[in-house]
Amino acid sequence: MKSVNGNEIIQVFESWSPKKYACMPNDPIGLAIGTLNKPVTKVLVTLDVTNEVVDEAIDNGCELIIAHHPPIFMKLSNLRTDNPKGALYEKCLKNDIAVYAAHTNLDVAPGGVNDLLADALQLENRKILEVSFEEKMMKLAVFVPVDDADALRDVLAKAGAGRLGHYEACSYTLEGKGRFRATEGADPAVGEIGELHIEEEEKVEVVFPQSMKNKILKAMLNNHPYEEPAYDLFTMDVDTNKQGLGRIGKLKQPMTLREFAQFVKVQLDVPCLRAVGPLEGVVQKVAVVGGDGNKYIRAAKFAGADVFVTGDIGFHMAQDAEVEGLSIIDPGHHVEKVMIKGVAEKMASLCADQKLPVEFIQSKINTEPFQFI
Ligand SMILES: [Zn+2]
Repeated sequence: MKSVNGNEIIQVFESWSPKKYACMPNDPIGLAIGTLNKPVTKVLVTLDVTNEVVDEAIDNGCELIIAHHPPIFMKLSNLRTDNPKGALYEKCLKNDIAVYAAHTNLDVAPGGVNDLLADALQLENRKILEVSFEEKMMKLAVFVPVDDADALRDVLAKAGAGRLGHYEACSYTLEGKGRFRATEGADPAVGEIGELHIEEEEKVEVVFPQSMKNKILKAMLNNHPYEEPAYDLFTMDVDTNKQGLGRIGKLKQPMTLREFAQFVKVQLDVPCLRAVGPLEGVVQKVAVVGGDGNKYIRAAKFAGADVFVTGDIGFHMAQDAEVEGLSIIDPGHHVEKVMIKGVAEKMASLCADQKLPVEFIQSKINTEPFQFI
């Protein structure tokens, strides 16, 4: 069986959750420990990298760990192996386990942590809570012989062109005739030197975010049958690729804050949670931010949320929210564990599409530091 290189796996991951989506200054994302330039057969997906998680990776024969929380968050001033963190890094290196972190870029990515939490809470008509990334869209129109058009459409879709919301491989095609005369020195795929040639062609149009321009053009040029492919490239003013942190949506049915708190406990699998606001008040519009959402209380209020679900809410932030009439449910930071199943399943499906034989294992280690007594 073809062996898969760690870099290939991360390329697939970053086509879904690119580093450009990171929305925290100097977020230490990417490869944190080891190398990706090696064969990888099994990947462990985890929220945190603890000693037990590294043991789990070793026991399962994983060569790579994909974690949400970066294992090296603060700059290191030494690499001593006689302290717990240093020993953890040593264990990874000695066992040839690479660790790759996807933090705020995975929060933001469509289908990432915030969407997974919104899925678990069954939020409908979902929108981004706070846009943190925006780029213009471009359109490529390329002229290709009819017989080669399907293959080229496929190449463009695989390179990531034609993604619109929940749709992929979107393109538009018009049929027409291409005319050209190859001159001395040309090596035409069709037609003869010195003769005007008419070819039945298709004009294939696809859109993509501006940052993908080089990748899409390279894919098109490398796979077009013509020596000199003809194409148009536009920057579009209408659509932009907007991504951001948090989600806001509606519950199918309104419920009291008390009922909603129970619902969150079940859906996010937590033994208890903290609630701010009138328990008999009715809520339907819900904002959610995975992890620590203290900074997004105002955004949730402005967006019209009845209740804001997030972790690590501070005492004074809770008081401020109460005064402003925004209810809060704090189920803890650890609910981000939804990413384990979400990322493992998404990556298994993306790698299967790319015919990369690699297994994604969901960590079973509980990394919640809090006990509830
Ligand atoms: Zn977090």
